Amino acid sequence: MSYGPDTTATPAAGSAHEELARGRAALCRIGALCYQRNYIVGADGNLSMRLSDGSILITPAGAMKGFLEPQHLAHIDIEGRTLDNGPKASSEVGIHLVSYKERPDVKAVVHTHPPHAVAMTIAGIDLSMPVIPEIIVTIGGIPTAPYATPGTNELPESIRALVKCSDVMMMQNHGAVCLGKNLMDAYKKLDMLEHTAKILWLAHTVAGGVKPLPPEAVAKLLATRGPLGIGQVNTLENRCGLPGR
Ligand SMILES: [Zn+2]
Repeated sequence: MSYGPDTTATPAAGSAHEELARGRAALCRIGALCYQRNYIVGADGNLSMRLSDGSILITPAGAMKGFLEPQHLAHIDIEGRTLDNGPKASSEVGIHLVSYKERPDVKAVVHTHPPHAVAMTIAGIDLSMPVIPEIIVTIGGIPTAPYATPGTNELPESIRALVKCSDVMMMQNHGAVCLGKNLMDAYKKLDMLEHTAKILWLAHTVAGGVKPLPPEAVAKLLATRGPLGIGQVNTLENRCGLPGR
C-alpha cells in the first residue's frame, strides 16, 4: 500500500483571470479523461470547480465532455445563475450546488456514470461493504442514495444527507458523485470507486459473493489513518449512509 506524495495538491493561486483560465483548461482535461476511461459516454455527466471568489465553473448543458474547449464552459454563481453571458450550465447543476452549499471544504464535483459501479447499484450489491484496504482507510464505505428522477430537484435532495459526510457516493441506477479539494482529487476518487466496483464484480463472478473483512481487520486499518496522515472524510468512521448511524 502506498500513499506517496500528494499529486492532487492545489496549485498556487494567481490572478482571478489566471485562475479562470486554469480552471477552464482543467475541466476540459478531466472531462476528456472521464470520456477516455469510459466513465461517461455521449453527453453524460457533468464536472465543476469552485473558484476562490465563490463562483463556479461547470460543464454546459448537452455537451460531450470528452471534446470540450475552454470557451464552452459555463460560469455561474452559487445559486446557479449564469455569469458573463456565457453558456447555460448542465441540467444537473443541482448536484453541484448542493455539494458546494453543504461542504465549504469541497472545491470540485465530478458526476459520471461509471458502468461497473452503476451496475452494482442495479444488481443490489453493497459498495459500502469493507473489502479493500485502500478504500477502507481513505473513502471508507461507498454509500448509495435512493433512486431519484434525473433533471428534477429530487436528485440533489437525494444526495444532500450523504454529501454532508461522504466524498464519494452512488445514485441508485444512475451514477456517481465524487467531491474533492480540487478537480484531480475528485477524479482520483472516481478512479478508485470504479476500480473497486470492477474488483467486486470479478469477485462476484468467480465466487458468487463477497465477504467483508472482519471488524478487527477494519479497525486495525482505520487506526493507521492517523499515523499515515490520512485526514479525508471517512464513512466507516462517521457511519455516513451506513447501517448504525
Ligand atoms: Zn447523470
